[in-house]
Amino acid sequence: MKNLALHWQILIGMFLGIVWGMLASYLNLNDFTIDWISPFGTIFINMLKLIAVPLVLVSLITGVASLSDISRLSRIGTKTIGLYLSTTVLAVLLGLVLVNVFKPGNAFSPEKREEFRSQFAAATSEKSSDAAAVEEQGPLQALVDIVPSNIFGAMTDNSSMLQVIFFALLFGIALIMIPTDKAAPVNSFFEGVNLVILKIVDIIMAAAPYGVFALLAGLIVEFAGDDPAAAIELLLVLGYYCIVVTIGLGLMILVMYPLLVVTLGKTKYRAFFKGIFPAQMLAFSTSSSAATLPATMECAEKNLGINKEISSFVLPLGATINMDGTSLYQAVAAVFIAQAYGIDLTLMQQLGIVLTATLASIGAAAVPGAGIVMLVIVLQQAGIPIEGIALILAPDRILDMLRTTVNVTGDATVAMIVARTEGQLHPPTGIKV
Ligand code: ASP
Repeated sequence: MKNLALHWQILIGMFLGIVWGMLASYLNLNDFTIDWISPFGTIFINMLKLIAVPLVLVSLITGVASLSDISRLSRIGTKTIGLYLSTTVLAVLLGLVLVNVFKPGNAFSPEKREEFRSQFAAATSEKSSDAAAVEEQGPLQALVDIVPSNIFGAMTDNSSMLQVIFFALLFGIALIMIPTDKAAPVNSFFEGVNLVILKIVDIIMAAAPYGVFALLAGLIVEFAGDDPAAAIELLLVLGYYCIVVTIGLGLMILVMYPLLVVTLGKTKYRAFFKGIFPAQMLAFSTSSSAATLPATMECAEKNLGINKEISSFVLPLGATINMDGTSLYQAVAAVFIAQAYGIDLTLMQQLGIVLTATLASIGAAAVPGAGIVMLVIVLQQAGIPIEGIALILAPDRILDMLRTTVNVTGDATVAMIVARTEGQLHPPTGIKV
């Protein structure tokens, strides 16, 4: 198993989890599975939650601090960030439209949704008085809630991720504003911590095949109960959810980026696609925009003819803050879970998802699985049960491969447009193999 790529290990874990879950419900091993296997799935989810706050805090601080070059390249910086933000928001909107049109979460049978709903209602009944209090609040309360009065309070309360983001942005901006010699040690401290956190994510991901096995086995047993046929229902609904995410990602690659490349980048999409293809393949197999970055830069410079000055600024920034595929996926996943739990999201709540999914994708590290970790923020802010992540974790690795491909393509699209509008496109030389 050791020599196998992680995504294969996870696929095997998924498969074995499904097989175990089915067998367990036939062989009456439900209690055994719930007592001795499911807890490992819970531990895996707890690890993901555990790393969420430090991950947001540190990757946002280092991300913002790395913008210090902007003073020199302020125009290019503004243009780049503007394009990155617009494509991300468009991606979230596309995800929301698709998930509202196809409603994959509603594909659960009415009984199942009723079950999810009552689980959720039981868990939140104590909070109903808080909910009433929320209704009485003024229109600016949401804004007030973003600003923490105590950063440690914000970090201990899992529902205050936006406050953590606010603090990280403030910290990063202040870091840019102080003298460089004073900022340098702080920068290198956070860069070091960032590496440590990314390593922890790596370690958690190494446990993913087992986590996925335990989660799937437990999920299927709990879902099926004494009725193995119900497990099939879960798999079918999850398949439907994956198809909706995939349609969204496909539309980004086949419609949105071609339109941008042709109209703003004034380049034939075929040439662009051919040039960036090696990077896309690497993104697909590593599920990491960061790991793919060297290839993205090489393709951009040699195959697309983008000047190094542009590519070396736009692409590393994009690998960190621009994740269109991730944000689209987060929007679909959040609403899917809400649908499964029978929670009707209001228009305002869905618009809130546009904000949080955009921020969460900016804060997501460019490593495998970061998107699902950051989904916690989107769920928390929209009042959707975080436990719902268990529902979508199993097929996540496959979706991660697809969304990372979109993330990398989005970065290259913006680099192309910036280079074109800055007059920094040269005839491509081609990668020498
Ligand atoms: N793996 C993605 C990336 O590196 C992030 C994510 O998990 O969505 O771009």
